[in-house]
Amino acid sequence: MRSRTPDRLCAEAIDLARAAAEEAAAPGTVGEHVDAVADGDRVVTHLFECKEPGYRGWRWAVTVARASRAKHVTLDESVLLPGPDALLAPEWVPWSERLRPGDMGPGDLLPTEAEDLRLEPGISDGAEGVAADSTPVAPGVAELADAEDADVEPGSPAVQPDTTARGSIAATADELGMGRPRVLSRYGLHIAADRWEEAYGPKTAMAQAAPANCVSCGFLVPLAGSLRQAFGICANEFGPADGHVVSLGYGCGGHSEAAVMPKPPRPAPPVIDETVVDPLPLRPDPAGGSVEAAGPGEEFGHS
Ligand code: SF4
Repeated sequence: MRSRTPDRLCAEAIDLARAAAEEAAAPGTVGEHVDAVADGDRVVTHLFECKEPGYRGWRWAVTVARASRAKHVTLDESVLLPGPDALLAPEWVPWSERLRPGDMGPGDLLPTEAEDLRLEPGISDGAEGVAADSTPVAPGVAELADAEDADVEPGSPAVQPDTTARGSIAATADELGMGRPRVLSRYGLHIAADRWEEAYGPKTAMAQAAPANCVSCGFLVPLAGSLRQAFGICANEFGPADGHVVSLGYGCGGHSEAAVMPKPPRPAPPVIDETVVDPLPLRPDPAGGSVEAAGPGEEFGHS
């Protein structure tokens, strides 16, 4: 049971405790004596301020003790401990929760959890690891897949039939673009749509000030699948969202029909003035100098 009152001899051994703290700490970083706490009978911990810049609020804790009926105080341990106002690192967070968009660099690998909620099994060729029971296949296709499996002969891979042969489930799924082991789940679609809506949606300042929406813009490239009802890809190189998925309710000043360039004005047709005679050279001067020209009153074609 702990004693509330520190042992007198142990409490007086401040110099012993300070010397131990100074031996463990960097020179000049042990500050004022803060407190002496009784850890038990004849066991006292002395606390000293830590002056290390990176350890604000931490304290050097040096524990001293003495044996029963002994007057000699000895050193137990010295350690740096956080005080009530210590600057502490945040709780450890797994890397998967610390990861932020844009953190990945060239050559980085980002593993995806087997139970990633953003993904769900897609139609596959029955490769190991894909949950065949949960694979969403059309009625009748599962029976075909079972029949394929039944045809597999025991033996080395060399004698196995080619599972990607024309007409097989795998080949058909590949042709239809459904050969991926996993595809986006409904949840994955929803959070992607929320992200895109936030970045390039109708509530953004750009969309609010736009003369028209993307849905009527000629630069919008439609998406495939269910997301095409709400999103497309902007292909206006001068727009703020070129190459990005934009909500159909988004918009910008680069809308193809918002400000059509006026056609250049056509010049007026030439006016023929028949009331004056223009001098016209009749023959070149052989000397290369001046030319003889028809003067006023001469008719053209007469020498
Ligand atoms: S140019 Fe502007 S309005 Fe047109 S699709 Fe791109 S973001 Fe939408």
